[in-house]
Amino acid sequence: MTSYPEYVPYPFQAEHHVATHPVCTNGLEDHSHRVVIAGGGPVGFATALGLAKQGVASVVLEADDSVCFGSRAICVSRRSLEILHRLGVGAGFNAIGLPWTGGRSFYKGQEVLRFEMPQDDNQQFAPMVNMAQYSIEKTLLDGVQAYHHLIEVRWQTAVTGITRNEDGVRLAVKTPQGAYQLHTDWLVAADGGRSTIREGMGLRLQGTSYEGRYVIVDILMKSPRPAERLAYFDPPCNPGSTVLVHKQPGDVWRIDYQLRDGEDPEQAILPHQVMPRVQSLLDMMGETAAWNPIWVGLYKANALTLERYRHGRVLFAGDAAHLVPIFGVRGFNSGIDDADNLSWKLGQVVQGRAAPALLETYSSERVAATHENLSYGTKSTEFMAPPSFAFDLMRRAVLSLAVKHPELRSLINPRQSAPIAYGDSPLNGPDEWGTHGPRPGTVLPECPLTYVSTHGDHAVFLSDQAGHGFKAFVFTADGVLPQAWCQVGVDRAADGAMIAHAALAVQAVSLGAPHPDAVDVLWDNTVQLPHLLGAQLGAVLLIRPDGHVMARWRDANVKSRAIVSAWINQLLAANQPTAIGVTP
Ligand SMILES: Cc1cc2nc3c(=O)[nH]c(=O)nc-3n(C[C@H](O)[C@H](O)[C@H](O)COP(=O)(O)OP(=O)(O)OC[C@H]3O[C@@H](n4cnc5c(N)ncnc54)[C@H](O)[C@@H]3O)c2cc1C
Repeated sequence: MTSYPEYVPYPFQAEHHVATHPVCTNGLEDHSHRVVIAGGGPVGFATALGLAKQGVASVVLEADDSVCFGSRAICVSRRSLEILHRLGVGAGFNAIGLPWTGGRSFYKGQEVLRFEMPQDDNQQFAPMVNMAQYSIEKTLLDGVQAYHHLIEVRWQTAVTGITRNEDGVRLAVKTPQGAYQLHTDWLVAADGGRSTIREGMGLRLQGTSYEGRYVIVDILMKSPRPAERLAYFDPPCNPGSTVLVHKQPGDVWRIDYQLRDGEDPEQAILPHQVMPRVQSLLDMMGETAAWNPIWVGLYKANALTLERYRHGRVLFAGDAAHLVPIFGVRGFNSGIDDADNLSWKLGQVVQGRAAPALLETYSSERVAATHENLSYGTKSTEFMAPPSFAFDLMRRAVLSLAVKHPELRSLINPRQSAPIAYGDSPLNGPDEWGTHGPRPGTVLPECPLTYVSTHGDHAVFLSDQAGHGFKAFVFTADGVLPQAWCQVGVDRAADGAMIAHAALAVQAVSLGAPHPDAVDVLWDNTVQLPHLLGAQLGAVLLIRPDGHVMARWRDANVKSRAIVSAWINQLLAANQPTAIGVTP
């Protein structure tokens, strides 16, 4: 009998959490909640953290007793790192994640592509870091536990039913200590691809499910090989297949390979099928170290989404809202974007600063983003695992040509996870800057800056500036704000009415050396903002709490703080920006 390397456990031990049962009367929890989040996966935890950052409490209901087990997401994009940093858990990702910047593709053993993702000295984060999903979730959980006064996680608490009414949602849950019901004003459904809430509400995901199957194998192997994405098309070790290889932290390697037509998936994951294929791949790669399998699973690509992510007081996020093929690495990453977009809007609504209609923009912006993610993910999937003879023929043609014609290699360049722009968002305001720089709806480019304060100067990044409500950057020569931007407290609108500040922070940006009296100033000490942003002296740039650009005005003397505050307030109250008459 042939012997194979022995299975070993992941180099990670999950903590197991006990169930709790609240005080109930007649099976209904006495205390009603403002926000309940169903699902303590990465998206549920990130949403809870985003709400907590705004001072909004939530309860997370999680069916399991620990963070996830097994092989799932590993590639975390730069945009997700920016968001996670803002949520206060960036240090954990920096400490554990393996950064990488590019990769190589081979066809029949010959290198046909070497790609690099955008990376320059301006960046605070690598374009991508690899980190196993159990570590991702543990890092988020550490962040959640630091907010125990605002976030309550109820482990081993599975949602089993949902009833909706105008005031909120009633959930039925089961725990090892018995079932009960609870009421919440708002429900975030982040309960994953098989969402009980989606099923319970009779909603269906729409789109395409691919037939092709991938075997996912995690192995433990010490190798000095650097972290990069390796793709082998029709490799000598596994002819006719596509094989992907990624390095993860802790000497874990992810190997994904496509099953050939007609292969039985259940048979294909048996050790006598898997181990020889892994060994022949490692032989082909020239890896000679001993290795052990940790996990073997099957993956089938889906490109599916709900039509809308808001259904009254229920908001869908992450895999509960959409399933994106893993080949574009946009499943977890798009879920983090959902959490970022949803948490500031829901926070504003719960705190009475915005009308519930604002949540419609969560749905429209993120549904549009999913369609963009799906178009990338679908192209990658069709290239990695051609769904028909025609796709297979086209792929072979492109790969064969790429061997001899380097100019065609861009056709096989995997589209990496660039931030999505909300170009058609109803929240996008006036744009008086022309076509240069980030237009309303886009994410700000990264840039190192110096923060000048009474406590001394320190290095910061442009991406650190989001997250504190709405922020208006006023571009000055020396950090001294025009008078119109200096009032504090309340503002007076054009009609004379007093209006509350819409959590609008004003940030003086100094394009030249700051005036000795100027404090709390962002100094563009590397003189890049005029080029990167198209920023001119006296201009105003407004960003949303999630860092997307909202509006760009030319003249800070004309668009005062009061006018911008009024504009945001009315936008939040009515979400009808075109109906607002903003006059100087
Ligand atoms: C093999 C594989 C590789 C992947 N690689 C990548 C990658 O590299 N990059 C990437 O971006 N994405 C990747 N993904 C996708 C990524 O794993 C998911 O998109 C991500 O986990 C979605 O997070 P989520 O929080 O929405 O859902 P989940 O992670 O599924 O979390 C949902 C949570 O809800 C809980 N739950 C379920 N039902 C209930 C209920 N009734 N009541 C209470 N709780 C409930 C579950 O226990 C779970 O904890 C990969 C996926 C797979 C399978």
